[in-house]
Amino acid sequence: HNFTDCEVHQCLLDNIKRMGYSQPTPVQRYAIPVILSRRDIMTCAQTGSGKTGSFLIPIIAKMLSERPPQSTLLQSSQPVTCILSPTRELCLQIFEELLKFSYMSGIHIVAIYGGADPKSQSKELTKGTDIIVATPGRLIDFINRGKIEMSLVKYLIIDEADKMFDMGFESQIRVILETMKENKRETIMCSATFPLTIQKLASQFMKNYVFLGI
Ligand code: AMP
Repeated sequence: HNFTDCEVHQCLLDNIKRMGYSQPTPVQRYAIPVILSRRDIMTCAQTGSGKTGSFLIPIIAKMLSERPPQSTLLQSSQPVTCILSPTRELCLQIFEELLKFSYMSGIHIVAIYGGADPKSQSKELTKGTDIIVATPGRLIDFINRGKIEMSLVKYLIIDEADKMFDMGFESQIRVILETMKENKRETIMCSATFPLTIQKLASQFMKNYVFLGI
């Protein structure tokens, strides 16, 4: 019941320690092994439960263990992981946490969100990206302009799915999902609530998923 019990890269363990997390929170304790075992998961947990770490830790662990042995940097222009958030604020919050978890790992992250100059985001993308954290509308703009190639995305996280649905992002999410290869995809959804609408989305977007309610 410790972070060191999970088979994760030393660099990630160092970062977790540096962040001052000595014990996993309950949602992390249950979700991390599920995600490491390649199962899809629907996590119902409130903000403050440590839900962000519950998906960032295993995703970074998997990306690091899958990296080709010769390379020190993952950096490519085609992301392996796509994290969707309903708002720019949440997008930046996840981005900040992601920077800390991935410190010195060679993983490159880019945040793509509306209400900011697309030029600087576009410039970041040209340096290569392994993980994108995005709001749906701006991401679709970038995909349509050929700035992001989504076909290598293997890990998809839909955070605050209930808020995403309430804000009318369902059709945009479907558009984004069509740009990925479904048979390769592992999907994680997080939601504070689990109404029928979210249950339906979960069963459409995920295969044989684990339900975790905290
Ligand atoms: P979240 O639910 O993801 O918004 O996280 C809530 C807060 O808890 C954030 O400020 C995190 O930095 C912090 N946190 C997440 N995991 C842990 C942990 N294992 N130990 C201590 N603090 C944590």
